[in-house]
Amino acid sequence: MFSQFALHERLLKAVAELKFVEPTPVQVAALPLALQGRDLRVTAQTGSGKTAAFVLPILNRLIGPAKVRVTIRALILLPTRELAQQTLKEVERFSQFTFIKSGLITGGEDFKVQAAMLRKVPDILIGTPGRLLEHLNAGTLDLNEVEVLVLDEADRMLDMGFAEDVQRLCDESKNRQQTLLFSATTGGAGLREMIGKVLNNPEHLLINSVSQLNEGTRQQIITADHNVHKEQILNWLLANETYQKAIVFTNTRAMADRLYGRLVAQEYKAFVLHGDKDQKDRKLAIDRLKQGGVKILVATDVAARGLDVDGLDLVINFEMPRSGDEYVHRIGRTGRAGNEGLAISLITHGDWNLMSSIERYLKQRFERRVIKEVKGTYSGPKKVKASGKAVGVKKKKTDKKTDKKAAAKTPTKRKSANRPKSDAPALVSQDGMAPLKRRKPTAPAAE
Ligand code: AMP
Repeated sequence: MFSQFALHERLLKAVAELKFVEPTPVQVAALPLALQGRDLRVTAQTGSGKTAAFVLPILNRLIGPAKVRVTIRALILLPTRELAQQTLKEVERFSQFTFIKSGLITGGEDFKVQAAMLRKVPDILIGTPGRLLEHLNAGTLDLNEVEVLVLDEADRMLDMGFAEDVQRLCDESKNRQQTLLFSATTGGAGLREMIGKVLNNPEHLLINSVSQLNEGTRQQIITADHNVHKEQILNWLLANETYQKAIVFTNTRAMADRLYGRLVAQEYKAFVLHGDKDQKDRKLAIDRLKQGGVKILVATDVAARGLDVDGLDLVINFEMPRSGDEYVHRIGRTGRAGNEGLAISLITHGDWNLMSSIERYLKQRFERRVIKEVKGTYSGPKKVKASGKAVGVKKKKTDKKTDKKAAAKTPTKRKSANRPKSDAPALVSQDGMAPLKRRKPTAPAAE
């Protein structure tokens, strides 16, 4: 029950209006401490209800008698526009019975319009680091009176290269009384350094170890012979699975565009979202998906970050994500807030070892699924090591002549400049997991 927390009655009214009955584990752990004004470092995944865990204490602090001098009193930093937009909506829903005003500053929007909004001084400002910094430099933003600073998805902001920008924004909010840092992973050295610099004697709340993630989501793998076979399996799944909305993940923009083209050609209502799309396209894709006009979204990791769409109950990894953390983020799109979801990864010979590293990381074994209508010949390695990885097949010795002939038949490796642009950031796990090896690029014919 939310009434167990020392929240203002107007906030309890909003919570009831939103039909939140039971607080989620992150809310139970974080709300009392945040309401006391403590600095917190919270490790919790997207979808765990963490937004309410920092928004409610901020609103509770601001709800008191209005200050004479109007200033920005809370700043919430997030890595992506979509996440910032979603957080603004959440803040507006929780503050609906108060006079607290919030504003949004992200890239891809008109600077002057934003400057005009800032002149009206919202109580809570939500934004992405890059554009906020531009406003600071232009003198259109003053963070001197910020009382609470939230760094949401801090690990991701570091992954995206925002470390310096975030630090500068923290330095500008120098009179703050409370800092709350949220991350989906426990992070690496970069996150530890940031925590040391920006938090004051924080309590560390480790809400969900990776192995407990997504209890409501079934995780399956289906083996495939090559990418064309993966497309057949994908078609079968989209035509035969029961789902409200699905998201299909690829590792590259080129693959996302290619799959999108195939789906549209088959008259699926689909949209594609990746780093090359401009803000208008991204907004449209997300809005259409939310409204239900589109059922399928093809996306790369960066583009889908923080996406919170009701009814997203099927996640298909057309390509395996390149780190355990990324897998967790993708799967975090479904099975949110206790709902059921299904996550299916399509695995070729080249994906197997990566998949088994992720299984070890999650300390889970994915369900092996076979669909007889689209069954291929590959069904996993013949022999596996104790780690689950395939036992390598030793190359037979051949004489030089045959080697040369074979080399002439095999396509040459593509130069790195021609490789499809990837939306994925670094391949190193932030959770102390051994870095996952980058897969060798597949031969062009198979892609
Ligand atoms: P978040 O992790 O903050 O992105 O939240 C994920 C989703 O769960 C959002 O749609 C929230 O509105 C919803 N949610 C958060 N807390 C609760 C709760 N206690 N009960 C029901 N839904 C919740």
